[in-house]
Amino acid sequence: MTTVRYSKPKARKVHYCNLCFEKINIGERYIYQFNVDCGDSWTFKGHLACNELCDVMKMYDDCYADGVTGDIFHEYIDDSYYKLTNKSYRGVPFPEKLEVVMEHFIPIKK
Ligand SMILES: [Zn+2]
Repeated sequence: MTTVRYSKPKARKVHYCNLCFEKINIGERYIYQFNVDCGDSWTFKGHLACNELCDVMKMYDDCYADGVTGDIFHEYIDDSYYKLTNKSYRGVPFPEKLEVVMEHFIPIKK
């Protein structure tokens, strides 16, 4: 996979994060990527924090071909939520799990 364009624009309308599937609010900076791979191309949009979490948790090491997808991201979060809390991740709203994992891996919010 090759990232042809990479930027951190300010959202002029509401977008949805490709990782956590939550809203990227107007005025918020987000990651924008335009990727190509084997004749396919797609755009990726994500929260800065979600993207940072991918880095910190080394998710990219597992996914060379398509980058980190929402499915992979969710799996990672479910898994580490379980490891951190010893509670089942089933039935827990995703943003709640994300917060727990985020606080563990990225303790200082900038
Ligand atoms: Zn996100």
